[in-house]
Amino acid sequence: MKKEPTLLPIRILGDDILRQKAAEVAEIDPEIKDFAQDLTYTMYLKDGVGLAAPQVGKSIRMFVIDPGRRDNDKAQNPIVIINPVIEEKSGESVSDEGCISVPDVFAEVKRFEKLKISYTDLEGKRHTEEVSGFVATVIQHENDHLDGVLFIDRISALAKLKNSAKIRQILSKAVDGVNILSKEK
Ligand SMILES: [Zn+2]
Repeated sequence: MKKEPTLLPIRILGDDILRQKAAEVAEIDPEIKDFAQDLTYTMYLKDGVGLAAPQVGKSIRMFVIDPGRRDNDKAQNPIVIINPVIEEKSGESVSDEGCISVPDVFAEVKRFEKLKISYTDLEGKRHTEEVSGFVATVIQHENDHLDGVLFIDRISALAKLKNSAKIRQILSKAVDGVNILSKEK
């Protein structure tokens, strides 16, 4: 354990970094380990079940999840996922999603029900796992962030219309391709 973890500023819709394809993590060095700690800390403070590196201004292929918090917000079993690859996907599952980077917008998204995913952990070990249901949904949502895709890209035209005022409002805060969540949020 290093210093106290830091709350990282959240990038929101309208920030260019959320639309970039993130780069592979080349090496699990101390800087990445520190960053993982800050990312996890920020996810919990923002009450998320997942948070991807681009959402805090780092365009690298890495995210943290803790899907168990959906049913028990005191549970803390963070899983740091680095350089993920979705190897197989099947089925269909529809659920309501939101995103820390798109405040106050919620809509149904259709995802794959089951995934086989491989990823590297913080010790540099590669894992392959099969997941389904809510965990699979969270992983697909976070993995999308690494490719510059947001959940609102996957919602129905009607849901987009319903949320258009909120979306415009968020976008209107962007300055020169940077949009950072204000402190009071
Ligand atoms: Zn998100």
